[in-house]
Amino acid sequence: MPDTAPLALTPSRPPLPGPPAAPSAGRRRPGARDLALTGAAALLLVALLVGAGWAGVAFSRGLSVGGSSSSSSSSSSSSSVGDDGAGPVRSADLTGVGGPSRDQGATGEAGGVLPDGTSAFDVDVPGLAGLEPRLLDALQRAATDASSDGVDVVVNSGWRSAAYQQQLLDDAVAKYGSAREAARWVALPTTSAHVSGDAVDIGSWDATDWFSRNGAAYDLCQIYENESWHYELRDGATTNGCPPMYHDAGEDPRVRP
Ligand SMILES: [Zn+2]
Repeated sequence: MPDTAPLALTPSRPPLPGPPAAPSAGRRRPGARDLALTGAAALLLVALLVGAGWAGVAFSRGLSVGGSSSSSSSSSSSSSVGDDGAGPVRSADLTGVGGPSRDQGATGEAGGVLPDGTSAFDVDVPGLAGLEPRLLDALQRAATDASSDGVDVVVNSGWRSAAYQQQLLDDAVAKYGSAREAARWVALPTTSAHVSGDAVDIGSWDATDWFSRNGAAYDLCQIYENESWHYELRDGATTNGCPPMYHDAGEDPRVRP
C-alpha cells in the first residue's frame, strides 16, 4: 500500500449517481454551456459524496477528541483498554467493526500484529495502516522529534482486528484467571481503542519516557496509569495538558455498557 493511501477512510471513489439529469422536458437543446454546467454539477456532487463519506466514517467511528465526554455520540467506539500480551495467534472470527481497509476477522500481521522493530513510518503494515490518520500523523511527528533527541520510537501495537483483540482477551482471561481481572488489562473487541484505530503502544523505555514528557505537545496522552506505553489522541492536550489518567482500564467508563 502506498504511503499516501488515505488510510482506511475512503473507498476508492463512489460510483457516479446515475446519468446526469437531462434538461427537463427537452424544451431546449443542451448547448456546450449546459453540458459544462452539468459536468461541473456532477463533479460537485461527487465531491460532496466523498466529503460526506469522510464525515460519516469519522462520526461513526467517534473520533476520540477531547476526552471521554465528547465521545458519547458514538456508543460503540473509542473505548480503550489495555494491552498486555502478544500471545500466540489463534483462530477467531469476528467481523463488521471498523473501516473498509480494516479486516476485522484477520489474524496475524493482517490483523494488526506488528513485526518486531516496527517504526512509526512503516505504514504498509496493516497495524499502522489501520490507525486513525490523525493519530498516525501525530505519532510520526512525535517520532521524528524523538529521533532528533536520540530516542528511537518502536511501535508495539496499533490497530488490531477484532479477532486479534479477542485472542488477546482470551489469553488475558487465562493468564489472570477471571474476566474481571482481565478487563483491567485488555478491552473487549467492541470497546478497544486499538480495534477502532485510536490507540498505539510505544516500545522501549526510552521512548515511553520521552512520550511521558513530550507527548502532550502532539496531543498524545497516556490514558492509564498502569499502561505507560498506551497512547491516544486527546485534542487540546497541546494547550491544556493531558486529562487525568485512569488508574487502569477497569476504571474507564468508556468500556462499560
Ligand atoms: Zn494499548
